[in-house]
Amino acid sequence: APAEPVDYLATLNEGQRRAVEHGVGAGCGPLLVIAGAGSGKTNTLAHRVVHLIASGADPRRILLLTFSRRAASEMIRRVERLAARVMGPNGAVLGEGLSWAGTFHAVGARLLREHAFQIGLDPTFTIHDREDAADLMNLVRHELGLSKKETRFPTKNTCLDIYSRVVNAQDELEAVLKSAFPWCLGAAEDLRSLFSAYVEAKLGNNVLDYDDLLLWWSHMVAEPMIAADIGARFDHVLVDEYQDTNRLQASILLALKPDGRGLTVVGDDAQSIYSFRAATIRNILDFPGHFSPPAEIVTLDRNYRSTQPILNAANAVIGLASERFTKNLWTDRQSSELPQLVTVKDEAGQADFVATRILENREAGMTLKAQAVLFRTSHHSGPLEVELVRRNIPFVKFGGLKFLDAAHVKDMLAILRWAQNPRDRVAGFRVLQLLPGVGPTSAARVLDAAGTGDIAELPAPPRAGADWPAFAELTGHLRSALSPWPAEIGHVRQWYEPHLERMHEDAVTRRADLLQLEQIAAGYASRERFLTELTLDPPSATSDEAGAPTRDEDYLILSTIHSSKGQEWKSVFVLNAVDGCMPADVAAGSPAELEEERRLLYVAMTRAKDSLHLMMPQRFFTHGQHAQGDRHVYANRTRFIPARILGFFEQTMWPMATASAPGPAWRGTAAIDLKDRMRGMWR
Ligand code: ATP
Ligand code: MG
Repeated sequence: APAEPVDYLATLNEGQRRAVEHGVGAGCGPLLVIAGAGSGKTNTLAHRVVHLIASGADPRRILLLTFSRRAASEMIRRVERLAARVMGPNGAVLGEGLSWAGTFHAVGARLLREHAFQIGLDPTFTIHDREDAADLMNLVRHELGLSKKETRFPTKNTCLDIYSRVVNAQDELEAVLKSAFPWCLGAAEDLRSLFSAYVEAKLGNNVLDYDDLLLWWSHMVAEPMIAADIGARFDHVLVDEYQDTNRLQASILLALKPDGRGLTVVGDDAQSIYSFRAATIRNILDFPGHFSPPAEIVTLDRNYRSTQPILNAANAVIGLASERFTKNLWTDRQSSELPQLVTVKDEAGQADFVATRILENREAGMTLKAQAVLFRTSHHSGPLEVELVRRNIPFVKFGGLKFLDAAHVKDMLAILRWAQNPRDRVAGFRVLQLLPGVGPTSAARVLDAAGTGDIAELPAPPRAGADWPAFAELTGHLRSALSPWPAEIGHVRQWYEPHLERMHEDAVTRRADLLQLEQIAAGYASRERFLTELTLDPPSATSDEAGAPTRDEDYLILSTIHSSKGQEWKSVFVLNAVDGCMPADVAAGSPAELEEERRLLYVAMTRAKDSLHLMMPQRFFTHGQHAQGDRHVYANRTRFIPARILGFFEQTMWPMATASAPGPAWRGTAAIDLKDRMRGMWR
């Protein structure tokens, strides 16, 4: 007998339901859900997908664009679960059919490979991550002699930032320089030739950088015939976190669905935090007016995530923004616990407090997974990580140093990438220099001699000597794909291990990473898929050197605020809620940048369901910018929580000051030491 139909719409509120039930055919008009944090936007999107499928839409013809791969798989899981409830066991299969769910970049890479032949692109292209791109930029910079010409020419990373901004904002170079990099205005002409040479280098190497995935995609769909072709593959296109898309992404959507039919976007303008990647809230604000008739707008104001005191405090913080966000969220989740502002002496005290509280929470029955520690910048969690390891608290860190950033992992990947695409010069350059006696000059010479030829027939560099035959054999092996994937990666490791031992003293721990890489590789159908997906969404660094905690193990989440977007935890700790960290660079910040920092704090606060701690070390260590170097600075409470909204918080101190005998030991017991302040005034 067919399972009793489940009314999956019953749990939705009126606004959510209107969004979910907004037309189900491919011809339905555009829809915008613009609503505050925790109001169920993502949940509504998941229900809408289920509703579309339940109403007969083909899941393979649904394109779902999310902010991270994690968000995409979370969405697929939700859809599967719901679909299974609604449609019985077959529903789960329908969820799996949702094969076009992912980030803009990942979907772009896939579409570009599929349509490569139509646009003059070699489909074996490899993808440069940020570091590879900077390396290539550097190579080109040297070739043009720009680094020598002027000592103050922008660094490779600044060059890449500028380039990226121009591409993503679809703006003129001069305009970008004027608004965001005024100190580089004098170099405009040289930058222009640099970027032109950089583009040429990418074409010659058959590589795309992250920005290219969007840029090529947008140019591809600017061709009406291809746009119609790709647009017709999808009946529905749905986008989460639309406030953080940039103009390039908006232009892609509009090219795919020029009349907005089948288009649904959701987002929150108060949570826009990616303007440094040229994201613009204009996208979400201008969305309805792009179409005629204009898009239907649904707003939601009930928050299902946080308690009323947490929400009050978050509303107070965002209420001080210079821009008026009209939403005022409410909830029926009452609580007597106010969010806490915790004053601690320094970062060690902060780590001590947070670790202690986390363990107390666990004692009281809250799993580690239900708790998270958020911070502005990845290195802010350093002292805490040490403390967590000391106390044996397992954790996973998001948005920080990636597993893939480790030199030995990059070496392995470079070998595979070079095998995939022998024209990838950055990869070849790295790989050749693994050989003892081969430096940049001879590596470059080998690459020049090779052109696009077979690596196996490369001339041996003069000093590679005895190591060359084994290397030539390996590359020959890879090029002719003698061993199937993923066995191939085992061959690479065997070749690489002696070099690893030669180069690194801690080869044993590094070897464990390589084994882990091999395990990850086994999960992918081909070398190409492995390289693409790993580059676009790398796994996170973990506390456990032997690998990520297994699925059912309990672990704490550490995350940058940027990477915490869309998520929620019972208990949230925000590190360094002080001026100098939040906002990051007080002196240099433009008003617009300050506003973005305020929204960042708002995003952090609205991740908490039941309990929220904002930490305020009186002293913190800063990795100095602008040649100030690393140093301790004395800090004040973040300016985003001025005295007039302090009433929304409870203030505590850690450790509580004790009236011990005066003397040198006294300093260790007080969270606030005004002596430090006195010194700090003159730093
Ligand atoms: P963010 O702006 O942070 O991305 P969001 O608007 O996407 O938040 P969701 O993550 O979808 O919000 O939902 C927040 C929480 O509220 C989730 O735990 C979700 O399950 C719950 N929720 C959403 N809608 C309802 C509802 N109608 N009834 C009960 N719980 C709900
Ligand atoms: Mg969401």
